[in-house]
Amino acid sequence: MADNMADKLDKLGEALKNGGKAVGDKISGVLDIAKLNLEVRKNETLLEQKFIELGKKYYDEHKDETPEEFTVIDAAKRQIASLKHQISELKGEKVCKKCGTINSTDSDFCKKCGESFNSED
Ligand SMILES: [Zn+2]
Repeated sequence: MADNMADKLDKLGEALKNGGKAVGDKISGVLDIAKLNLEVRKNETLLEQKFIELGKKYYDEHKDETPEEFTVIDAAKRQIASLKHQISELKGEKVCKKCGTINSTDSDFCKKCGESFNSED
């Protein structure tokens, strides 16, 4: 009878161990998937960065040829510059009339080209 009980406990222990292993396997499986997904995302991000770099390089090399795409890019750049200018004015920053550099409110001269902000004409 005692042997029978020991036998049952052994079987229960075995079952728990196997069950634990299954849970462990499941967890490590989930972790493996998470790790792999992370690797995928890392490589996707790298690809995106490379494509952006490549696009910028291509743009710089060919911007004088002005195909349709470049006109859109140039327009977006002008729009960004104009918007930044408006933001700066709202913030009270001084935008240099000569070189377009944004200077802090209390500047007397442009930090880039030295243009004076005091002579209002
Ligand atoms: Zn300037």
